[in-house]
Amino acid sequence: ARMALGAEVGVEGTVLVALDWQGQVAWSKEWAHAPEEDLHARIQRLLLEVRPHLQDALGLGITLPGVVAGRRLLLAPNLGWREVDLSPHLAALPLPVALENDAKASALSEVFLHGEQNLAYVVLSTGLGVGVVAEGRLLRGATGAFGEVGHWLGEGVSPCRCGRRGCLEVALGLETLVKRYRALGGTASTLEGLLAGARAGEEAALLALRQLGEALGRFLANLAVAYDPARVVVGGRVAELFPFLEASLRASLQAHAFLEAHRRLPVAPSVYGHLAPAVGGASLFLARFFELGGLWA
Ligand code: BGC
Ligand code: ZN
Repeated sequence: ARMALGAEVGVEGTVLVALDWQGQVAWSKEWAHAPEEDLHARIQRLLLEVRPHLQDALGLGITLPGVVAGRRLLLAPNLGWREVDLSPHLAALPLPVALENDAKASALSEVFLHGEQNLAYVVLSTGLGVGVVAEGRLLRGATGAFGEVGHWLGEGVSPCRCGRRGCLEVALGLETLVKRYRALGGTASTLEGLLAGARAGEEAALLALRQLGEALGRFLANLAVAYDPARVVVGGRVAELFPFLEASLRASLQAHAFLEAHRRLPVAPSVYGHLAPAVGGASLFLARFFELGGLWA
């Protein structure tokens, strides 16, 4: 076996990568989900795509935007699934398979590259989640919900897809960003449109992104006291927006930081870009060598 396979089965589509043992992406492939494809159909489709590569692979790490425990998905709010046992699908495969949360896998992808001891990897797309590596270990907690800060309850009352109200991911998530941009007079109705607007200097887009940067700065000040990372990586779809919110994020982090050291907390977009969760899934197998917390099962 010359490589490890990793996949992200996300809210909108699936990404599959092959990673060599040095952490280089050998190839990748991605596809959008059809509206009628439920989680089981998405996994079946992924396994079909994987089949021709089995000879070459050490293992397959599948990441999901939700709380994962072993081969069970406990809750994936933005997929609309809870309490699903995926082992029947995975048992059929003739190679080792592991499941992982998208943010936790993404954190592994960075650690694999840089050997970081203390890192917080923020995934912000539709949902918000954090993968935490502390003192060299990927933290999962008692149930797998470690770092599920998207579902921290704040003062708001807007409904979240987890079934509760006032979750942080509703305030910071990119659906709300697009709504706010519309309310500010923005002309487009998608994230791509907003990004195009920002690139063209559209005031509503730039303002909405500055406001998000401000809110993210406060959020990072909170992460700094909760997890005390040496570095923060920002991934998910917000990474594409990063150039437009970096300045306000930094200013806000400086204004709200608890410790002097937190003011200077390095914050950067993900190196593997949108491939990060899938790369992290693959590195679950390579990570064994680095004793980063190993596999769930
Ligand atoms: C989920 C997390 C996930 C995050 C980013 C949240 O809604 O609960 O598990 O990491 O979205 O995808
Ligand atoms: Zn929630």
